[in-house]
Amino acid sequence: MNLQKVEFIRSAARPGDFIHDDLPKIAFSGKSNVGKSSVLNCVLQRKNFARVGQKPGKTIHINYFKVDDRAYFVDLPGYGYAQVAASEKERWGKLMEAYFAEGEEITLGVMIVDARHAPTKLDIVMAQLFRDTGCPFLVVANKLDKLKPKEIEPNMQVIRKDLGLSPETLLIPFSAEKGTGRGELVNAIFAATKGKASV
Ligand code: GDP
Repeated sequence: MNLQKVEFIRSAARPGDFIHDDLPKIAFSGKSNVGKSSVLNCVLQRKNFARVGQKPGKTIHINYFKVDDRAYFVDLPGYGYAQVAASEKERWGKLMEAYFAEGEEITLGVMIVDARHAPTKLDIVMAQLFRDTGCPFLVVANKLDKLKPKEIEPNMQVIRKDLGLSPETLLIPFSAEKGTGRGELVNAIFAATKGKASV
């Protein structure tokens, strides 16, 4: 995999649309506005591939991108946008439940949180979902550029503690804006897909 070729494949709004095949699947999650689209664009070194600044909460579906014909990047719907109707929150919960029920399909979870703040309740729920599936996952703490250097370590400790991360779980201080942490994230994605790609 060298991230040269990226194609949008499908937007899944219901479990019947989920993709079941042998290619590795890297699932990206994060609350609305955390910078999930920006992290995806940063990894893919493209400007507008995953749309940045979409109206939050309007996109309760799972987007599949095929990368180099070797793996899927699975863009899970953002969560936690306060002004979303209860019915939409329920739709999010149902879709996530269905997706994670098939957790063996997740090769690597990439959970994106805000480096500036303690994890939200839904971030904690999301970490638990990844843990329950037993799939490997890592945490990206985005918007690092907004922190003062002396704030970084204490904030990382809070994120690690609140999400209940084991010492082995990778927590990558990241800035989609500056590219900080990109190498570490790309390496983890490559390592996870190695040997699983069917070529
Ligand atoms: P999404 O809703 O999670 O997909 O978030 P977006 O990628 O649309 O980003 C939400 C906002 O955060 C946008 O205004 C981005 O420009 C901004 N943003 C994303 N990543 C970073 C980052 O690393 N640093 C800073 N300062 N802003 C960021």
